[in-house]
Amino acid sequence: MESTERILVHACCASCSSYVLEYLQQEYDVAAYYCNPNIQPEAEYRLRLGEVRTVCGHLGIPLIEGPEEFEEWNTAIAPYAHLPEKSERCRVCYRLRLEETARKAAETGIGLFTTTLSVSPHKIHAWIVEEGRASGEKHGVMFLEADFKKKGGFQESCRKSREYGLTRQDYCGCLFSLEEAKLRRKESDSGR
Ligand code: SF4
Repeated sequence: MESTERILVHACCASCSSYVLEYLQQEYDVAAYYCNPNIQPEAEYRLRLGEVRTVCGHLGIPLIEGPEEFEEWNTAIAPYAHLPEKSERCRVCYRLRLEETARKAAETGIGLFTTTLSVSPHKIHAWIVEEGRASGEKHGVMFLEADFKKKGGFQESCRKSREYGLTRQDYCGCLFSLEEAKLRRKESDSGR
């Protein structure tokens, strides 16, 4: 029997979304929300958005496109700019996107929301849960506290990425993470 419970899923990129959206479709009436002003430069934002559109189209899932507020994101994150990946910088980045997803869920009358972020082993799950809960409370909607990387979820997302022919970027999304990835590449090229 088809589920009628609706869920709004924050889709961080197509690689993570490919598995999570299909998995959630087994239980929910799924809509996706691409709300990622952290993803920069703009060409990269458009590339990832295009791939999310492809995956949603394939799965028959409606996609809502969020505000392209790059400058607002940069301003909000500026106090944490000096911090590395997996620091307060990332926690605030999760918060900004989860709060906006919760707000959008409430606005569109969807009582439940979640995020594809937890499929990545590079994200801090405890922070995703705390920020998701707080965002839900703020906007009067429930956060689904799933850890999608479990039960082989991460491996399955890699497999599906290959199946769809998706880009697997070596940086998380913001310009800080792009610089960090460049540094990693340089260090590995020099054999350090
Ligand atoms: S590394 Fe990723 S999670 Fe952290 S601030 Fe940048 S885009 Fe956000």
